[in-house]
Amino acid sequence: MIEINGLTKRYGDKTAVDGLTFSVHPGRVTGFLGPNGAGKSTTMRAILGLDRPDSGGVTVNGRSYVGLPRPMREVGALLDARAVHPRRTARNHLICIAQTNGIPPARVDEVLRLVGLESVARKRAGGFSLGMGQRLGIAVALLGDPKVLLFDEPVNGLDPEGIKWIRELMRSLAAEGRTVLVSSHLMSEMAQTADHLIVIGRGKLIADIGITEFVRQGSSVLVRVDEQDKLARRLTAAGADVQPGADGALIVTGLDSREIGKVALAAGVVLTELTPQRSLEEAYMNLTRDSIEFQASAA
Ligand code: ADP
Repeated sequence: MIEINGLTKRYGDKTAVDGLTFSVHPGRVTGFLGPNGAGKSTTMRAILGLDRPDSGGVTVNGRSYVGLPRPMREVGALLDARAVHPRRTARNHLICIAQTNGIPPARVDEVLRLVGLESVARKRAGGFSLGMGQRLGIAVALLGDPKVLLFDEPVNGLDPEGIKWIRELMRSLAAEGRTVLVSSHLMSEMAQTADHLIVIGRGKLIADIGITEFVRQGSSVLVRVDEQDKLARRLTAAGADVQPGADGALIVTGLDSREIGKVALAAGVVLTELTPQRSLEEAYMNLTRDSIEFQASAA
């Protein structure tokens, strides 16, 4: 369990994280989403005690990271997979970290197996591909068999096979009852991995929501109907958001197809089309539109 309480972090006059409060629960994958520069890495660094907050705080399993007696056994993190001595072999890299953290060497071979690097364990990490480097970084995170895991943009630059592997690993770590927080700037990525979403923008919390609820809120339905104005009024009265779509269609959010069908029946209007739109990416863009740091503008 990670608890973030009123966390604020400034760099000079830049506020990277601004009064952030949320909890990350065990047994599920929590996606940490936000545009680039939103404050995701800063938050993760604060969880790990690498950045001292200006105010507020973070606890992991009820204690701050710096107060943890054996931190690697409590929290594992993949922040920057390139932080490996290039001339060291994968196995030596892990052995060094294990030694300084009082972790038995047998665990090194276990994690090498877990991440599928057994066959290259005695090769220099400097020659590793991005995907292999990422696996090595994950091996480090898993070394202490921690209950809490943080992954900062773990699939960046990976091929589809690597992405699938990481996704499955996160799901299995959560299924084992661990707390898994994974950051991404891509909704499409999180939609396939996360059970829960924390969305931030400009250092502030935008949404703390289950993925199913997000999908429900985010998906819209395209409706074609003979009596547009009448149905639009009835749908709005029923709590939906109704926008004009192309060619006289209505784009309805907040109600699903069945609910829209019922409103149409009650209104006595004839529906000629009712098509759910799967626009998760769009829903995410709408949510974070105001918090993009550097917007491309048509000057
Ligand atoms: P994200 O991980 O969501 O992309 P970051 O946490 O890296 O966002 O950054 C949040 C904001 O803080 C950005 O505007 C970034 O430029 C700024 N920032 C991050 N680290 C530093 C630093 N060490 N010095 C100055 N500014 C920083």
